[in-house]
Amino acid sequence: MSAREWVGKDFYRELGVSSDATADEIKKAYRKLAKENHPDANAGNAQAEQKFKAVSEAYGVLSDASKRKEYDEARRLFGSGGGFNFPGGGGGGSFDMGDIFGQAGAGGQQGGFGGLGDILGGLFGRGRTTAGATANRPQRGADVETDVRIDFVEAVKGATLPLRLSSPATCSTCGGNGAKPGTSPRTCPTCSGSGLVSRSQGAFAFSEPCRDCRGRGQIIDDPCPECGGEGVSTRTRTLTVRIPPGVDDDQRIRLAGQGEPGRGGAQAGDLYVRVHVAPHALFGRKGLDLTITVPVDFTELALGTTITVPTLEAKVSLKVPPGTATGRVLRVRGKGIAKRDGSQGDLLVTLQAAVPAKLDDKAREALQAYAESMAGHDPRPEITELLEGR
Ligand SMILES: [Zn+2]
Ligand SMILES: [Zn+2]
Repeated sequence: MSAREWVGKDFYRELGVSSDATADEIKKAYRKLAKENHPDANAGNAQAEQKFKAVSEAYGVLSDASKRKEYDEARRLFGSGGGFNFPGGGGGGSFDMGDIFGQAGAGGQQGGFGGLGDILGGLFGRGRTTAGATANRPQRGADVETDVRIDFVEAVKGATLPLRLSSPATCSTCGGNGAKPGTSPRTCPTCSGSGLVSRSQGAFAFSEPCRDCRGRGQIIDDPCPECGGEGVSTRTRTLTVRIPPGVDDDQRIRLAGQGEPGRGGAQAGDLYVRVHVAPHALFGRKGLDLTITVPVDFTELALGTTITVPTLEAKVSLKVPPGTATGRVLRVRGKGIAKRDGSQGDLLVTLQAAVPAKLDDKAREALQAYAESMAGHDPRPEITELLEGR
């Protein structure tokens, strides 16, 4: 992207912000548009794809303070006349903006636009943006993401939780038009209600959101006391969220239509509840299976025994056959996670030989006698073989 190409484009208009918008306003407008037009949400929609590219390009320039300065400079320069026929209007189309701006040409390709994933990843739940000229169009409400923390057992068995949400909603005092009850907004005289004004600078005409009405096309003389003229107020509501059994840590649950309300009669967005599952002191999870590690004495493994193992609800008795190796996993059928679709996991019990840190005299003597009786036994024949072969 060279400065020459920049000049032919109205990046401010692409993002629906005025040319004196703050970096924050630009970012907000971009995020909103990028999300609305993101290819993931608009499969096969060429128009959305086009728009997505255009806003990405615009943001690539306007989000970078030095690039934005160059761009503004270029617009000002060519707007002020100066006799350039640009771009390629009459005969002088060969002028290279890169010559003027030096480094601009070297910047090359996409204009330092990186980390799209990061930006899109943080799109949810960032509140409402005022996107200038688009304010009057019906628009689907934004998706909202919120977090819940549940404990391990709730995640396994499922839970029903109350969820308190504060979110913007149409102001009930003014019905959303932003005017004090009994008054109404009037059409903006500057833009005649279109929300846009044209500004011509030399050969170029730029269309910008109207500053007098901030692109809304209407002026509110007596703002609603509840929402301050925004038409939106904060609503706190309590939803009941059903967490299905077997939910994983970091999983998102979608509640259709529970996001932000749509504008102009459009559909509400969705609410995504991200579930954080606290770990359990003893149990772990592997898919639908629950796992637990049970320490056992060497003698229990060698001689065999019956151990009692907790399950999430109760306990089970497990037979450990004589000669069981440490690390062996015993499977207790049907004591794992049961999902609504009928799938069912098991409890996987890992036996782990525990070595006593201290021995009393009697135990030491007994172990020494044992060791003597095992003197001819090599616990690691393969290793001995390998070592002797060298
Ligand atoms: Zn209001
Ligand atoms: Zn206006």
